[in-house]
Amino acid sequence: MVDDLGSLTYKEVDERTTRLAHGLRDLGVGAGGKVAVLCRNHRGFVETVAACVKLGAHIVLLNTGLSAGQVAVVLREQDVSLVVADTEFRPLLTNAPRKVRRVMAWVDGATKSKTLEELIAGAPDTPLPNRPPRGRMVVLTSGTTGAPKGATRPEPASLTPAAALLSRIPLKAGDRFSVPAPLFHAWGLAAFQIGLVLGATFVLRRKFDPVSTLADAGRHGSTALFVVPLMLQRLLETTGRPHLPNLRVIVSSGSALPPPVARRCLQDFGPVLYNLYGSTEVSWVSIARPAELEQHPDTAGMPPHGTRVEILDERGRPVPEGVTGRIFVTNEMLFDGYTNGSDKEVQDGLMATGDVGYRNGSGLLFVVGRDDEMIVSGGENVYPREVEDLLAGLPGVREVAVVGVPDERFGQRLAAYVVCEEPGTLDEDTVRDHVRANLAKFSVPREVVFLDALPRNATGKVLKRDLR
Ligand code: ATP
Repeated sequence: MVDDLGSLTYKEVDERTTRLAHGLRDLGVGAGGKVAVLCRNHRGFVETVAACVKLGAHIVLLNTGLSAGQVAVVLREQDVSLVVADTEFRPLLTNAPRKVRRVMAWVDGATKSKTLEELIAGAPDTPLPNRPPRGRMVVLTSGTTGAPKGATRPEPASLTPAAALLSRIPLKAGDRFSVPAPLFHAWGLAAFQIGLVLGATFVLRRKFDPVSTLADAGRHGSTALFVVPLMLQRLLETTGRPHLPNLRVIVSSGSALPPPVARRCLQDFGPVLYNLYGSTEVSWVSIARPAELEQHPDTAGMPPHGTRVEILDERGRPVPEGVTGRIFVTNEMLFDGYTNGSDKEVQDGLMATGDVGYRNGSGLLFVVGRDDEMIVSGGENVYPREVEDLLAGLPGVREVAVVGVPDERFGQRLAAYVVCEEPGTLDEDTVRDHVRANLAKFSVPREVVFLDALPRNATGKVLKRDLR
């Protein structure tokens, strides 16, 4: 593992995490205890998770983009006893329950509590007795639709299912993984698990910055890059990119990959792009390979080995190819339920993804949108994704999001929020005319609003509830 502090071998990480597990135990964390992690991508994150696994403690992964209020809710709800946090996130812990105030900062020790390095240095490296019971892991959803939900999963000892992804993505032992996607999110975590299966070298940085990510990939000979679509877009916008002869795989996931970004990536980096469609609850559904994306830049591909996908109608019957329905999935990585006690809909062992889509004649999956994002305008159903994908291809558009807003006459009307590459270069009519020329009349946004940037969360997802 390479991070901002240097590099560590697997053996070193193993030794250090044994010590850290002893240190955490001295702080009162044992099997069944709960530790929350509020960290960026670095050894502190990885080692805390590994030490908790050694102890059989439960792990709660906090999203670094949460507010102090949201963090406090999760900590209380989860009855967390200890938080491992980066010093920069101290303000997010101001409302934390009193018993959690024993916060450990990672990098500097500007607190009364101990740093991870102090814990590691002060503890023995004697093996921990007995195999502990397996802990669970709580991963938060992105909070695209409302407050983030805690999803409980049996983690992270179960690495074998991650190997199934190798049936669609040609990763191999000895690969060097650059992972700018946040490890606290289901996608970064999945990338991490695949890497562990392969004994990969991880290149982790505290903050994503396109220039340094590319420089790192060159310096460390990265063979695979794990990103969210927004990161990929930023990488593609970077001028003077280094030559990356070792890069064989770029996997984008976490949210929909805009087709113009897919096209540009294939053009600039060659046939190395994979689009993984998944979620916190179901881990993954399908993966599109470069050749499939070259033909259909908007496809989500096909399920990997061990994953079954069905597209069902409202009455739970499979729909024919080309017909849009609700996407259901089953694999070995389905979550156990939300921490708030609610659950995802399950039919015949298949879990609802909450998305709608269709399959084409070749069996390729296309995700049309989320079922809760469907806009009903004047009795017609519109999925914002169709309009967004179209507008993303309009020259001069950098980013776009479409939402439904209440309308007295039509029930809902479409509003498009557009970020231009050069401010002031597009006007409302150009945007509307482009939609009118390509889609049905009811898909034309009645409102077009130009913004400097779209509101996004820490994983780069557009916060549509804020736009609404
Ligand atoms: P919340 O449930 O809190 O509203 P969320 O569903 O956005 O948040 P995640 O689990 O991070 O939380 O996101 C999963 C969703 O993201 C999927 O259900 C799908 O809508 C979308 N998604 C992820 N990857 C892709 C992809 N490759 N193509 C299309 N959509 C994707």
